[in-house]
Amino acid sequence: MKNTVFILIDSCHPVLYMRYQHQLKIIHQNLLKKLSSYEVIILGDSHSQITEKRFDSLKFLYAYLSDTVKGKDLIILDAYAALISLDDTKKVLEYSNTHIYDVCLTENLPEGFVPMIISKDFIGDFHNYIEEDKKVSSSLKDAVDWEFQGIDVGVYLSPSLLVMERVDFLPVNKGAIEWILEDKDTDLNLDNIDEYLKENPEILRHCPQYVAIELHPQTDGFNTRALPEGELSIDTFRKFVTDIDEFAPEALISLGIWGDPFCHSQFKDLFSLLEKLPNRVLVESRALFLSEELCSLVFSRPNTELIFDISFTTEEDFKKYKKSNYTLQEIRTFIHKIPNKEQLWIRLTRTHETEYHIKSFLKEWQDLMPRVIINKADSFGKESVKVVDLAPLQRHSCYALRRELTILNDGSVLLCRQSKDVIGNLNKKSLKELWAINEVSFLAQEQKQFDSCSICKTCDDWWIWN
Ligand code: SF4
Repeated sequence: MKNTVFILIDSCHPVLYMRYQHQLKIIHQNLLKKLSSYEVIILGDSHSQITEKRFDSLKFLYAYLSDTVKGKDLIILDAYAALISLDDTKKVLEYSNTHIYDVCLTENLPEGFVPMIISKDFIGDFHNYIEEDKKVSSSLKDAVDWEFQGIDVGVYLSPSLLVMERVDFLPVNKGAIEWILEDKDTDLNLDNIDEYLKENPEILRHCPQYVAIELHPQTDGFNTRALPEGELSIDTFRKFVTDIDEFAPEALISLGIWGDPFCHSQFKDLFSLLEKLPNRVLVESRALFLSEELCSLVFSRPNTELIFDISFTTEEDFKKYKKSNYTLQEIRTFIHKIPNKEQLWIRLTRTHETEYHIKSFLKEWQDLMPRVIINKADSFGKESVKVVDLAPLQRHSCYALRRELTILNDGSVLLCRQSKDVIGNLNKKSLKELWAINEVSFLAQEQKQFDSCSICKTCDDWWIWN
């Protein structure tokens, strides 16, 4: 790779940097070792720790490069992309140079594994195409209006299905950081990575990324399941928050699975326990309890969204299936009065009963687009509720076992949200211990043994990515 320069951009999120400063530095040093025979320039965001040169916007950063780097192709990658495949980078560079592209992207490969190339002939102009407001942390793919700018963009398409594995090659969370650190000497490339993942399946599963917890058993009686009696205790929730902070610090926390979290008599107290966590939180209401005060509380927390599952568009069906104390019209009026809707989502759960409501539902809530969701119904191993299903043809290990935990309102933890099998209880075991229990089922599925519980064999929810 002659006449090239590697541009390492540090746009690591400050929360990640604060928590994993030591590990991130090692990862960065490993990358520098890997690139030791090349010219490297390190540039960063305004909070970056590893460079002298910091920029407030992506445009300024590339304006700086247009002056600094002349006559060289630029290889752009994340400052922590220690698993970069140099073999495949060479192939992309060759492809780009052979076709004389201005810019060369990869479309179907994970970020951090193969970089993006900007040609020596184009780098002088590139900053002119970048939108003013784009931060250094913005993805370059989103920072330029590629289609209408007349830039000659090459897309390097690989036959690899690696992207299906959904492995993070950048240190975006604790699990990804651990596996990037574990891999010290392997020169991974597209020819050997599948074999490597097959031999080391545990790297796909370090800690939960999505944890759903039921606060209250009151459900709408529509495509839900019977729940244990009683609401979740404050003490159990306090333990949950402590465990999450220690073990799954970047997991998305969903409050409410089938029950309505707003029905919990101490919702305010529970919710305030989340104050110190940086985690993204989803509050999933079934529209069984409406409270302006609770909605405002939810919206006041950063990184938090509220979903109302409404599912119907006629009073008749709404009354029949949702069994809410409110009429559909009352719920509509309540939602329309919510002043700030940026954190609000409206949902329809797709089943035989709701199928013919979809068109009118989308029309009715079009002002909230794109925050309108059509959700796949939980099937609990049955097929009857489903209208259509587009599962991939080739079965792989279940994503739920790889990244989720489901906790009911008595603290019991399920194998997954489709299964009735209880693997333990949060009141007796830590989240870490409960997570370890499910590893056996995950590894079995990696070996194509799809009978972790009574319904795994026939289940077709294994490909759902929450
Ligand atoms: S295959 Fe289905 S039942 Fe089995 S763990 Fe995955 S989602 Fe649950």
